[in-house]
Amino acid sequence: MYDVIVIGGGPGGYAAAIRVRQLGAQAALVEAAELGGTCVNRGCIPSKVWLRAAYLKHWIERAGEFGLKAALGGFNPTALVERKNAVAQGIREGMTALLQKNGVTLIRGRGVLKSAREVVVEGKTYEAKKIIIATGSSPVVPEVPGLKEAALTSDELFNAGDLPASVLVYGSGPIEVEMASLLAAFGTKVTLAAPQSRILPREDHDVSQRLGQALREQGVEIITGATLAQVEKAGPGFIARLGEKTMTVARVALAARKPNTDGLGLPDLGLKLNDEGAIPVNARLETAVPGVLALGDATGGWMLSHAASAMGVTAAENAMGRQADFPARLIPRGLWTNPEAAAVGLTEEEAEKQGHEVIVGDFPYPVNGLAMLRGQVDGAVKIISEAKYGEILGVHIVGAGATEIIGEAVLALQLECTADTLAHTIRMHPTFSECMMDAARDAAAWALYLPPK
Ligand code: FAD
Repeated sequence: MYDVIVIGGGPGGYAAAIRVRQLGAQAALVEAAELGGTCVNRGCIPSKVWLRAAYLKHWIERAGEFGLKAALGGFNPTALVERKNAVAQGIREGMTALLQKNGVTLIRGRGVLKSAREVVVEGKTYEAKKIIIATGSSPVVPEVPGLKEAALTSDELFNAGDLPASVLVYGSGPIEVEMASLLAAFGTKVTLAAPQSRILPREDHDVSQRLGQALREQGVEIITGATLAQVEKAGPGFIARLGEKTMTVARVALAARKPNTDGLGLPDLGLKLNDEGAIPVNARLETAVPGVLALGDATGGWMLSHAASAMGVTAAENAMGRQADFPARLIPRGLWTNPEAAAVGLTEEEAEKQGHEVIVGDFPYPVNGLAMLRGQVDGAVKIISEAKYGEILGVHIVGAGATEIIGEAVLALQLECTADTLAHTIRMHPTFSECMMDAARDAAAWALYLPPK
C-alpha cells in the first residue's frame, strides 16, 4: 500500500511524487510512455530548441550591425532534431535519477483507476490512500472536413527533416503563435488565422497588438475572425477555406489539445468531466471523488508546464493532509517569439470588469539603454495597478527578456506589491528589467524617463 500513487510522469506528476516523498510518505509514479511528458519530449523543450535556432539565425543575419562579418551557411533541421532529442534524453535521465534518489517507485505502464484507492497497471493492482491524476494532454485535430490529411501538429513539426514552403497556422493561442514565428523565421510563407477577433485572446489587448505587429513585420499574414470550414487536397498541397477566403498551402499547422482523460476509468468512479473533457477540481485540486486529486493539463485551464509542476506541489501537500489552495492568479504565461512576450495576473479588461479603478503604467523598450545598445527596441512593459492602494494586479510584457523579467512580476503580485514600491526598487544598469521599474514609475505618476503627461 502506497500513501500516494501519481498517474503520469510529466512535470506535474513528477513534482507531486517527489513532494510526497519529501513529506515522508511512500509514493509511486505510473508512466505509460516517457518521463517528462509533453513538456520534455514534445512541448516546451523541443519548441524552445527550435526557437533558439530561429533566434540565432536572426542574429547571424544582423551581425553586421555590430561590425561582424558573418553569413549563414545553411540550415540542417536533422541536426537540430538530434540536438532536441539529446536535450530531452538528458532531462529524462536526470528525472529518472532524481526519482530513484528520492525513493519514488516508478511503475511503467498505463494506469487505470479501479477505485478511489486502486490503480491497475498491466493487469496488476496497486493500492494507495490517495491518488493524483496527472495524465496531461495530447494534440487533437478539430472536426473540419479534410483537415486530418493536411494537419501539421507540433509533434510532427519538431521532428521535421525539412519545413513546408507555405503553412496556414490555424488557432490563436501561444503554441500557434510560436509556431508561426518559428516557421516564418525559417522562410516558410505563414498565414496565422485566429478564429477570435485577435491573436492571444486571453492576454491583454496590448500584448496581442504589439506581438501581432512584430509578426506582421516578420512577414506573417494575420487573419482574425477566421473559421476554417474545409480543407481539400490540391496537387502537392491543400486549398483551405476560411469563410469567404480560400488559400493554397502546403500544410495546415495546429496546436489544439485535449486532456488525457479517456480510458482512465473515471466514469465508473462517478467522476464527471467538463465540456473540454478535463477533470474539474477545486482550489485544493481535489476532484469530486474523495481521495482522488488531479492537476496539470488533465484539469484544462492554462495548460502550462510550470502550472502543472506548481500544482504537483499543492496536490502532494493536500494529499498529505495540508490544506493549501493553488494560487492560480500567480501563473505566468510566456512566448519565446521574436520579441518574447510574458504576462502574469489580470489584463486591463479583466481588472476593469472586476470593478477596479485601473491605473496603467507603460514603458516602451526604445527608451531603455540595453534595448538600444543591443538593437532590441521592439516592445513595452505594461503594469496594471488599482487606484485605491496602488496594488499591482497584472504585468504584461512584450520585449527581449520578457520570459525572465516576468519572474519578478510574479513575486510582486505574490507580495501584494504596490506600483510605488516597485518604482522605488533599484535595478542594475543596463538591463531590460529597468523597464519594470520605469513602468511602475509611470503607474505611480512619476516616470523619470518619459515626457511629462
Ligand atoms: P504531460 O506533460 O502531458 O504529462 C502527462 C504524462 O502522463 C505523459 O508522460 C503521459 O505519457 C502520461 N500518461 C497519460 N495517461 C497515462 C496513464 N493512463 N497511465 C500512465 N501514464 C499516463 N508549457 C510551458 O509552461 N512552457 C512552454 O514553453 C510550453 N511550450 C509548449 C509547446 C508545445 C508545442 C506544447 C504542445 C506544449 C507546451 N507547453 C508549454 C505545455 C506543457 O508542455 C504542458 O502544459 C505540460 O507538459 C503539462 O504537464 P502535465 O504534467 O500536466 O502533463
